[in-house]
Amino acid sequence: MYNLKSRDKAVNWHPYTQMKTADDAIPIIRGKGVYLYDNEGKKYIDAVSSWWVTLHGHAHPYIAEQVFQQLNTLEQVIFAGFTHEPAIQLSENLLQLLPENQQKVFYSDNGSTAVEVALKMCIQYAYNQEKAKTKIIAFKDAYHGDTFGAMSVSGRSAWTQPFGEMLFEVIFIDTPDSQNMDALQSQIAHIADEIACFIYEPLIQGAAGMLMHSAEDLSELMKFCRSKGIIMIQDEVFTGFGRTGKLFAADHLTEQPDIMCFSKGLTGGTMPMGITTCSQEIFNAFLSDDKYKTLFHGHSFTANPLACTAALASMELLLKQETLSSIDRIRVQHSDFSKILAEHPNVENVRQTGTILAFEYKTDQNTSYFNEIGKRLYDEFLQRGIIMRPLGNVMYLVPPYCITSEELDFIYQNILEVLNLFRK
Ligand SMILES: *Cc1c(COP(=O)(O)O)cnc(C)c1O
Repeated sequence: MYNLKSRDKAVNWHPYTQMKTADDAIPIIRGKGVYLYDNEGKKYIDAVSSWWVTLHGHAHPYIAEQVFQQLNTLEQVIFAGFTHEPAIQLSENLLQLLPENQQKVFYSDNGSTAVEVALKMCIQYAYNQEKAKTKIIAFKDAYHGDTFGAMSVSGRSAWTQPFGEMLFEVIFIDTPDSQNMDALQSQIAHIADEIACFIYEPLIQGAAGMLMHSAEDLSELMKFCRSKGIIMIQDEVFTGFGRTGKLFAADHLTEQPDIMCFSKGLTGGTMPMGITTCSQEIFNAFLSDDKYKTLFHGHSFTANPLACTAALASMELLLKQETLSSIDRIRVQHSDFSKILAEHPNVENVRQTGTILAFEYKTDQNTSYFNEIGKRLYDEFLQRGIIMRPLGNVMYLVPPYCITSEELDFIYQNILEVLNLFRK
């Protein structure tokens, strides 16, 4: 049934699984709950929710059942001139959970496209009003995706290096803290009139290595941007759907963004889909008899009914008391474990936001994404049946919400053992 002979033909290039080591890629045959099973029957606990997407565990029977029914009803329809119930219902259900200024939903395929749409909305928002606003602000070390617009607003790194010249210019600012607020504000103030938008990952910069800033500081910066009329894009591709301990990072903040981006956990990690939401004010700038004011952006699979159905089912599961309690339990367990971690001689910078726990392996080596220690830790955890993917020397846990306290303890125990193994 499974043809694994030409593994090297289906490989995404990555430092841990480069082309030359493609044959090392582990063939996964099936998943159930928090576990993935390979072709030899070995099971792995998915401590990173398969790149932060899986919310309720693998092959969740309820989502599968709902998608199966939808597959037998309507699998796909052109989303121009036509609409369908899953798309309408999903828009309604999602908007109910978001800050009240979020009024409209724009569908696309993944996190990067959700960001592209958000950027195009802002740039054209200014264009449609004949305002000369072309500058964009983003955080240093940001990650917003791999397409060209998303790369442009991401920190310059090994990922973006070959394309450097072709990325558009962005003003990168520090993330806010209690020390730098005045400096940040004056940096922004003197160009405020030319700024098309400010895009940011709220509370936690995931790909940068789970770097965290406080909700109070971000709220203060947002308040300042609001006072200057700067459009804000809140990229909740990672933070959305419970990751931060609340449904959205927005629930920790006192200010509302103009535009929001979602993907990853949106469908519970079952199907690719991106969503960009916006306020009525943004939407109104496109509402015109003038065809040139249209936001000309659409993907073939826009609002795919199967993906919408998966998202509806996942959100239904997410809002169950059982899931919300689980999220809280994970938060508390992480918090207890972080006290133990903080005492460990090989560990520094332990940090946590909700279900996300991160810490650094103390090393004299350079701590870049490509450093050796990351790969060694990765291999050691794999052997122990745990999927963790350190970002350089940063280790982190982003478990599916269905993980039990025993399974979490198993991971914690192994982390301590591995740290002792690597003791200098
Ligand atoms: C993963 C991620 C993206 C990109 O999403 P893809 O679906 O991988 O294109 C964008 N923004 C943030 C904050 C992310 O973590």
